[in-house]
Amino acid sequence: MNILYKSTRGDSSRVTSSNAILKGLAKDGGLYVPTELPYIDIPFKNMIPMDYKEIAFYIINKFFTDFDDSTLKNCIDNAYDDKFSSNLIAPLKNIDNNYFLELYHGPTLAFKDMALSILPHLLKASCKNLNIEKEVVILTATSGDTGKAALEGFNNVDKTKIIVFYPKKGVSPIQEKQMITQDGKNTYVIGIDGNFDDAQRGVKEIFSDKKFNDLLSKENYMLSSANSINIGRLVPQIVYYVNSYIQLLKNRDIKENEKINIVVPTGNFGNILAAFYAKKIGLPINKLICASNENNVLCDFINTGIYDIRREFKLTSSPSMDILVSSNLERLIYALSDDNSCLINSLMKELEVHGVYEINEDMRNNLNDFYADFATEEETSLSINEVYKNFNYVIDTHTSVAYCVYKKYRQKTNDCTKTIIASTASPFKFPESVVESIDNNYDVLSDFQLIDKLSNISNIEIPKPIKELKNKTIIHGSICKKDKMKSMITNILNV
Ligand SMILES: *Cc1c(COP(=O)(O)O)cnc(C)c1O
Repeated sequence: MNILYKSTRGDSSRVTSSNAILKGLAKDGGLYVPTELPYIDIPFKNMIPMDYKEIAFYIINKFFTDFDDSTLKNCIDNAYDDKFSSNLIAPLKNIDNNYFLELYHGPTLAFKDMALSILPHLLKASCKNLNIEKEVVILTATSGDTGKAALEGFNNVDKTKIIVFYPKKGVSPIQEKQMITQDGKNTYVIGIDGNFDDAQRGVKEIFSDKKFNDLLSKENYMLSSANSINIGRLVPQIVYYVNSYIQLLKNRDIKENEKINIVVPTGNFGNILAAFYAKKIGLPINKLICASNENNVLCDFINTGIYDIRREFKLTSSPSMDILVSSNLERLIYALSDDNSCLINSLMKELEVHGVYEINEDMRNNLNDFYADFATEEETSLSINEVYKNFNYVIDTHTSVAYCVYKKYRQKTNDCTKTIIASTASPFKFPESVVESIDNNYDVLSDFQLIDKLSNISNIEIPKPIKELKNKTIIHGSICKKDKMKSMITNILNV
């Protein structure tokens, strides 16, 4: 089956996966989705002997059909190597019969590494597939974790430059330090005086600015995106859900074809959308449980059918989920509407103009796969404490939001389907919130003292990337106003 990609906003062109990966966003501002979905066509038990890379090849190959086998295998080999501190890549921990899917063993200690360690290789291969000689400029807006993972992924990849915009006041100190100490001669990091939504909007505007793109093209540049709107990020994320199902099967925790639930701490709706696609291609999933923090716009949407961003933007202890405009939701509502791009266009217009839209009855009925709730700051902190006290297992704030929402779900539904909890960051990335939740009986400590303390509490060695961070020099210090992002790029590229 040869799979092409189309825009959610109705542009009639159909493009190859290479094209979709390279462009990031479709010309009409929509997101690329596959024109049809493949299907897992071998029994799950036959996958038991397969390792992460083999499962990755099996899944990604079904979506990116214009990559030849050896190219794709190369991309996978280069991505999932010893950059990951676990040779399982994404190990599953059974804690009191909850399955924590640890997606944070990559170089930047957050789940973004799962996709961003392969995206640069997919991008380079896409250029080759399409005979494109231009230098690719990756533009990225980050709520904290994407930025570092993208910088790390693209660091010194030839014929690419990467420019990251982050909300100067909206990321954790460790996240900021990780980014502004990034080496590599093709990396640029800029703080903006706005929040993540401002950064994301700015980047999207630049992508759809035809004049600016023409200018860049003349100078032999082309823009691409490392944000989760890129289909090249979404598809590799399907892999770890399939892989974790196989791990459960292998450990005899489930029977073949037994359904599972998946809980995902959600921000831009990329991670949970990958789980939704996993279900669509045949992974036996019962409920997809969407966990929000106090920025609970998605939770409200799933429960009411109304997406309403006219509310206060809150800075929480789970900053990577501090998002009101979830880009990937567009792919979900497109699917809910049975690919009705006219409808999606008008909903997106309403969101832009009025800050709110409501989906119709049919679309709401299609939301049955989902369940949603949110965790307050206090609940998040208490859950970190509870998991530590009861099971001697330390989770970060984002994972705690997921765990908390799952507890609420169990209480309300009594559903005891085996459940995977996507664990999206290492607790060492958010040492202050985590230590405070476990034992707030200390004087003010610096971040690195907190990290030492966390290592003592958890009896886990400090992950190498964090240890090394302490003595790294700050390389990037640019700051810009949120409406000056384009001129920053002009300066960097000298166009
Ligand atoms: C990005 C991120 C999330 C949110 O994932 P989305 O795909 O944007 O929904 C959750 N937790 C952590 C730690 C993240 O970095």
